[in-house]
Amino acid sequence: MLGLMQNQPLLISGLIDFAERHHGDAEIVSRRVEGDVHRYTYKESAHRARQVAGALDALKLEFSDRVATLAWNGYRHFELYYGVSGSGRVLHTINPRLHPDQIAWIANHAEDQVLCFDLSFLPLVQAVHERCSTIRHYIALCDEAALPVESGIPGLISYESWIGTQSGHYTWPSFDENSASSMCYTSGTTGNPKAALYSHRSSTLHAYAAALPDVMGLSARDAVLPVVPMFHVNAWGIPYSAPLTGAKLVFPGPALDGKSVYELMEAEKVTYAAGVPTVWQMLLGHLKPAGLKFSTLRRTVIGGSACPPAMINAFRDDHGVEVLHAWGMTEMSPLGTLCTLKNKHDSLSDSDKMKIRLKQGRAIYGVDMKIVDDSGKELPWDGTTFGDLYVKGPWIVREYFKGEGGDPLVYDGDGVGWFPTGDVGTIDADGYLQITDRSKDVIKSGGEWISSIDVENIAVAHPAVAMAACIGIAHPKWDERPIVAVVKRPGMDITRDELLRFYEGKTAKWQIPDDVVFVDAIPLGATGKILKTRIREMLKDYRLPTA
Ligand code: AMP
Repeated sequence: MLGLMQNQPLLISGLIDFAERHHGDAEIVSRRVEGDVHRYTYKESAHRARQVAGALDALKLEFSDRVATLAWNGYRHFELYYGVSGSGRVLHTINPRLHPDQIAWIANHAEDQVLCFDLSFLPLVQAVHERCSTIRHYIALCDEAALPVESGIPGLISYESWIGTQSGHYTWPSFDENSASSMCYTSGTTGNPKAALYSHRSSTLHAYAAALPDVMGLSARDAVLPVVPMFHVNAWGIPYSAPLTGAKLVFPGPALDGKSVYELMEAEKVTYAAGVPTVWQMLLGHLKPAGLKFSTLRRTVIGGSACPPAMINAFRDDHGVEVLHAWGMTEMSPLGTLCTLKNKHDSLSDSDKMKIRLKQGRAIYGVDMKIVDDSGKELPWDGTTFGDLYVKGPWIVREYFKGEGGDPLVYDGDGVGWFPTGDVGTIDADGYLQITDRSKDVIKSGGEWISSIDVENIAVAHPAVAMAACIGIAHPKWDERPIVAVVKRPGMDITRDELLRFYEGKTAKWQIPDDVVFVDAIPLGATGKILKTRIREMLKDYRLPTA
């Protein structure tokens, strides 16, 4: 017997519809690429999202066609989130920090039909557009007056004139909630980037879960500022969970320096913010010497990399702001765990509470997790035994776009598929996860990935390099920076600077290692794999010249 409740698919258009009807006058404020601050309401935003949907129909885009963005956090990007997905197309947010070669590769792999970009990325689009064979329409996120005359990009039109032809009278289509809504490539692992393809159902469920009190705890009383970019895992879902709760949205645009973010937060009475540790380091670094305080900020979610204790303390002691440490990944939409205390922790001392706060937190309802040993056997939740972290749930990938990389899941004895995260951690008796290491061969610098294999491959392409091994070294600002240990070919010579120059143009500038360390040999394991742990031991006294 089936239940007799109304069967309404969970669609992304439902979120903006809800915000329009129930929080129509709540504000969306954006610092624009143009430099000024733009302000309007959910009601106006919903209208313009429908104009986007109509404009995509006019371009004759089919259901599931991909529309790419290269854009900062702002109201036009937000309208695309709804206009593209709501009309049944797939929003492909591209990370502009990638190397142009990678951007072209990703756009071709996704078979993007349209690219919408902020004018600050015009040089990037000029550099890649000839290689993007599937893109038929280029749209600059600006008004007609700001459109560059000689852009060199065929058929370039302004966003405002593009959507301006549409009335906004548009009825969102209804379709299977499992249809794809958006996609995000992760270059976290080695080989070509792979895309997580989110669905309307997964994104809506994630938005519900994110808003829960022990997760992001968003409400209609909040003004939320996502510093975490909308080009990276849907800004942790905030563009979906803010309309669901009626929270005011404040978008920082391209101005991510401490001063600009602080001024916007104060001017717009931001109560809630979210970002990676590097961003907050810059913000706190701006506040401290000037003796500035947050007057409205209450909570901030910090994730993407481990949150240092000094940051939790500085937020609490200097500003009375609660830090919520979060863990997740692109493949998880991204939220997996969030750290809030239970009432049984009330009587703990501050230092014991801190020990818990430093953990990555408890699983959110919808996410299940376990730690396993090398044979896949589940390990105890005792807070000390560590193992490979596996997850499952309705907003976690089952497969990558186009089946890239084969079946990523690992099946247990009951045939249940778990996604191996590439993270290593412990889980304590109360279910708190603590990430202790990574089994994946990557370095995370300022919240962005650097593949150590890519760094090694470039080094060994130099004729004077026999072997190379890249590891991450702790860095006070960027969390980690790569260095490369190199064995020279017998009879050949190369200097540190020569090798660093060799990287130029072959990878994004910030992915070039900070240093080269020449060694006599690189330790290898029984299967010929580089033993990174041994290299880390060898270089334990090494200090980065850039730190
Ligand atoms: P991404 O897919 O780029 O969002 O990166 C996800 C990865 O970032 C995770 O698998 C972890 O390796 C790392 N990560 C995310 N959040 C945290 C955190 N709070 N602490 C430590 N590592 C984290």
